[in-house]
Amino acid sequence: MPCQKTRPSQFCPPNPVPDISQISNLPELPDIRSVSREELATRLSDWKTPTYRLEQLMAWLYPSRVTTWDEMTNLPRTLREELARNYRLVSPSLVQKQGSADSTQKFLWRLEDGNLIESVLIPANPDLYGERADRHTLCVSTQVGCAYGCRFCASGLDGWRRNLLPHEIVGQVLAVERWHAGQRLTETPAVESVPQTARLINNLVIMGMGEPLANYEHLMVALRALNAPWGGGIGARKITISTSGVAPKIRELADDPLQFRLAISLHGARDEVRNQIMPINRKFPLSVLTEACQYYVEKKGKMITLEYILIADVNDAVGEVVPLAELAQLLHAKVNLIPYNRVEGLSWNRPEEEHCRAFSDALQSQGVPTTLRLEKGHDIEAACGQLRLKSERNGTTSA
Ligand code: SF4
Repeated sequence: MPCQKTRPSQFCPPNPVPDISQISNLPELPDIRSVSREELATRLSDWKTPTYRLEQLMAWLYPSRVTTWDEMTNLPRTLREELARNYRLVSPSLVQKQGSADSTQKFLWRLEDGNLIESVLIPANPDLYGERADRHTLCVSTQVGCAYGCRFCASGLDGWRRNLLPHEIVGQVLAVERWHAGQRLTETPAVESVPQTARLINNLVIMGMGEPLANYEHLMVALRALNAPWGGGIGARKITISTSGVAPKIRELADDPLQFRLAISLHGARDEVRNQIMPINRKFPLSVLTEACQYYVEKKGKMITLEYILIADVNDAVGEVVPLAELAQLLHAKVNLIPYNRVEGLSWNRPEEEHCRAFSDALQSQGVPTTLRLEKGHDIEAACGQLRLKSERNGTTSA
């Protein structure tokens, strides 16, 4: 609608150039960041576009993180219009941010359909998931809600709604980096201000809302883009996928050539204990999960991480140390111990700090590499989903 924006005294051309931003808001069109690079290459070739245009397009979509077609200033207008007719270009909008610049920060995003998801940005913290995070770690969501119902987690309290599309997973990383670059997330930046391309996030953990391996195909499209040098540039070894234990998908991941890290949300080293915490354990009990993890370790030749939330009087008895140590040794795994953070609506409690340290010491005395994360802000998994839940229940919809 260009003429409505034009002052009466201005010349209004008889065939106005369409406003590109208005062309591609049709929900049935795929978002361009949900389409693989190979598919885009084919499409550009079909349009008889020179091959170097693909590199230019990728540079705008990922390192420059643009939010509008108009920002792609070195692409011909005809190409931008063709792209806008065939793809959408959407980004999550920021609803709320919690936390200070030097501590863990939670972002609550609104998606196109109004659903809310969370991402958590964790500042430099050595040894969190195997490799030193010399800058920042981002924890991203992969689903709206979750069907797995792990008993310590707020994300599953209102059930599962839908899988995130690849661009909605990638979009969390780009939106946080845009936010960091000082841009307003909900406004169209001026065309002449090319976004800053400095990267913030060099560690990615896939342990926000949702079970990542239950959204495997979309996750893989997103991670390939985030890993690629033309995309997010985050090394595969700095991307950790955390699963509640979807054994068949762990095997599929093991067969993928990319060297992503794997973390298992374990929380119980005996079926009697794990059944109380992780409903998935009834479908894939520890014997099945262990075999899938062994397959992964054999194929990848890499250490995996076992996440163990210490919950008072549920899984923190000294008697749990030996089975946990045996499992960790069998899988050549390290163990992350995380004292439980209380979740509104759930009745479990956090053990005393002294008890957590004793559990950790006992595990280490069995020769298991162990990390005890006592900082409350770093309890990504237990904390995840609470901001969204609270916002939805309170009807919070704007920043
Ligand atoms: S811990 Fe993960 S898999 Fe389990 S309910 Fe929460 S989001 Fe779902």
